[in-house]
Amino acid sequence: MLQLNDPSLLRTKAFVAGRWVDEPGRGEFPVFNPADETVIASVSDTGRQTVRVAIEAATVAMAEWKLRTAKDRANILRNWFDLILTNTEDLALLMTWEQGKPLAESRAEIRYAASFVEWFAEEGKRAYGDVIPAHATDLRLLTVKQPVGVVAAITPWNFPSAMITRKAAPALAAGCALVIKPAAETPLSALALAELAHRAGLPDGILNIVVGTDAIGMGEELSSHPQVRKLTFTGSTRVGKLLMAQCAGTVKKTSMELGGNAPFIVFDDADLPTAVAGVMASKFRNAGQTCISANRILVQEGIYSDFLQELTRVVKKLKLGDGRDPETDIGPLITGAALDNVDSLVRNALDCGARAMAGGQVSILGGGFYEPTVLADVTPDMKVFREEIFGPVAPVVQFSSEAEAIALANDTSAGLASYIYTQNISRILRTTEALDFGMVGVNESMISTEVAPFGGVKESGVGREGSRYGIDDYLEIKYVCIRGI
Ligand code: ADP
Repeated sequence: MLQLNDPSLLRTKAFVAGRWVDEPGRGEFPVFNPADETVIASVSDTGRQTVRVAIEAATVAMAEWKLRTAKDRANILRNWFDLILTNTEDLALLMTWEQGKPLAESRAEIRYAASFVEWFAEEGKRAYGDVIPAHATDLRLLTVKQPVGVVAAITPWNFPSAMITRKAAPALAAGCALVIKPAAETPLSALALAELAHRAGLPDGILNIVVGTDAIGMGEELSSHPQVRKLTFTGSTRVGKLLMAQCAGTVKKTSMELGGNAPFIVFDDADLPTAVAGVMASKFRNAGQTCISANRILVQEGIYSDFLQELTRVVKKLKLGDGRDPETDIGPLITGAALDNVDSLVRNALDCGARAMAGGQVSILGGGFYEPTVLADVTPDMKVFREEIFGPVAPVVQFSSEAEAIALANDTSAGLASYIYTQNISRILRTTEALDFGMVGVNESMISTEVAPFGGVKESGVGREGSRYGIDDYLEIKYVCIRGI
């Protein structure tokens, strides 16, 4: 049994209208430790009915919340931020326990999750409207920003805390109430955040968390209920498209953070150690289970063999293990299905002529462990080039010219993150402009921060999270035209 400093952070029921609830007749579902596939908790399996109750509670609670001053809301968010940081160790343990990532990464995610709460507490105070020079002398034209309404948030398991605060913090700061459905793989991190929000003074009904296995039913309810005015989603492109279609029926605002297929381009003039370090951070963090993870490493012919050699050397040193062991560099993949998918992509690449320089198979450790892998001589016809890998597999592709690199990079329906490594300033400007992606890291692969806009183009999504733009998705602009001044 996991020892927490504060055992009351381990919550196993849904949080609705300020109370911990079950749904009669639906029982519980197990949460697994992906490192050894043992059951670590049983959580109330709430469904559609609880979602409906939560939406009603949010609607009622929001009537008062939206009328408060931004400063009042900010003070509560600030309390939440402080409580998240104070409880970093427990929250990180819970996360590693249910998600598998190394403890150091879990601690970093908790700090990252908290940063959105701090940031949007401040941004809420700056949701300015306009006074517009009028088109007639007796008119005055104003705009005011108002909360969009009740928000539904559906979040994934790969960043169980940060994907919640990145949505909840701007929504709360703007004056919205939320119903959040985390992934069934990682409900404990979400529920602990709700406990802390409650302690921070958030009124009952403002932040509700529904947990359960009926993702389809809950998703249908959240995306069709008329009281929900906005749906924000992070997850797969397939589910994102479905939710957008379902939201059309009631014309909800949507924000979508969907899958990526990030190109990582290393030009001949790149600094080799910097480029290898960039791949390591981008590709192997969270065992490659991030949507901005380098998915296709495109390396120019002059540096190709040196790069491959160095990358292989460093990857071979990585240590797989339980995330709670301080020696561990890479934890397990989230489920057996995830493991099978990664392995089938690697098998396909090897069958089509790629070479495994490191790894290339399921680990003998069992559980969700996959060997850190480097694949050389990958080509665009292989599945590993086309599909999001979500595993510790680095496919390396050789190219010769800058134009070829850009064409290869843009040859995807995804458009989330991209990376280029070069010392040439003209090339930096040319290529950052030519890449059809929402984000470009130049000689840097750790690009996520609460102060910058995160989001994709093409089929990677709609909207931006974090930064001064992140609150816009939770606000409507109301235009007021006054005559007779
Ligand atoms: P992944 O493949 O990373 O698990 P998903 O898109 O399946 O990504 O999951 C992201 C979130 O979407 C999770 O909370 C999951 O429960 C939820 N989800 C999955 N399928 C649906 C669906 N049909 N409708 C609504 N939500 C869904």
